Amino acid sequence: EFELAGRSSYLRIDLDTILHNINTLREFCSKTTDVIAVIKANAYGHGSLEIARYLEANGISHFAVATAWEGAQLRQYGVKGYIQILGSCIKEDIHTACKFNLTPTICTADFLQAWSDWHLNQNKITGSVVIKFDTGMGRNGCQPTELNSLIQKCDDLKIAVHSVMTHFSQAWDDFIFTQQQLDTFLTATKDLRCRGIKVHAANSAAIIQGYGTDLDFVRPGICMYGLPPDPSTATVEKIKSLNLKPALSWLAKPTLVKLLPPGSYVGYDKTYQCKEEEIIGTFSIGYADGYRRLLSSGGGYLTSMDGTRFPIVGRVSMDAITVKLDSLDSQKVYYVMKNDYTSGHSLTKLAAELKTIPYEIATSLGQRLPRLYV
Ligand code: PLP
Repeated sequence: EFELAGRSSYLRIDLDTILHNINTLREFCSKTTDVIAVIKANAYGHGSLEIARYLEANGISHFAVATAWEGAQLRQYGVKGYIQILGSCIKEDIHTACKFNLTPTICTADFLQAWSDWHLNQNKITGSVVIKFDTGMGRNGCQPTELNSLIQKCDDLKIAVHSVMTHFSQAWDDFIFTQQQLDTFLTATKDLRCRGIKVHAANSAAIIQGYGTDLDFVRPGICMYGLPPDPSTATVEKIKSLNLKPALSWLAKPTLVKLLPPGSYVGYDKTYQCKEEEIIGTFSIGYADGYRRLLSSGGGYLTSMDGTRFPIVGRVSMDAITVKLDSLDSQKVYYVMKNDYTSGHSLTKLAAELKTIPYEIATSLGQRLPRLYV
């Protein structure tokens, strides 16, 4: 696999596991609910092109990205299905969205006017849009008082409304607020649903907690990759009990292993000094690959296949880490991140230790790390 990856460190991504996770999430939803697979930010670091292609070949026909540019890339790679741009679009996105047949998410009348004008100018049939309705995020999305006038504007301009959506802000643990958001959404969209306009709300956390799972679509992201929406023990236990599995592991073998005499310094700033003769392995991994500098001396460790932990010593640099090993074998393979929650450093554990969330760790995985799909 290292030869295939072309580097001594690579991400191993199990595509079947992603499909397994989607099917597991589907079990929470009603039979008529369809999945919009959220593959923005390079599919949360997992590689959106390969994942979209694989999912499309396995019956998934709806995708969501954050920007027009991300959607354009998918189209250029041959993805045929529905692609929604989740981030609120501005006028400057219209050209790219139309050229690549992407569905914009909108929340202003100005955008609708510009969308209509652009199509008139080009003599094209106006593409459909998704209207985003803010029920408590306080960022993109129209206010409750604006929804009906936006729908009216779509009717006036003959713009088809693909769907109306909202987004939950804390569905993993604030169930009162989530229910309020859902109630606000369902009340505001009641008449629209009677008119046949589709609606969707649920992200991963909402799906596994059972909010908005009987609407027309759900929009899972993080749980598709088998990662929890937050790294708290309760959420991790929930994910485990549902048999969702992380699809990604990060493997590495050293580029050099050497014996350093007592007193030798390791790495920038001389933050580590060998107390005795020590075996130090250098690995071609650095903060440019998304391995945080905060994991320098004492913070991080690699795990061998048998579960033994080996600490990072010295600073994490841009392209290298140094690890105190117990073997001079340079062919030995180690986990940098393991695809489970219990042994070694999983992505989720690292997120918790770094006081952040799995989303940030996953989306920071460096572009230059080879991704091997199995
Ligand atoms: N829907 C919207 C509008 C989003 O912005 C996101 C991601 O942030 C998702 C769905 C997917 O969320 P998650 O990864 O928590 O499932």
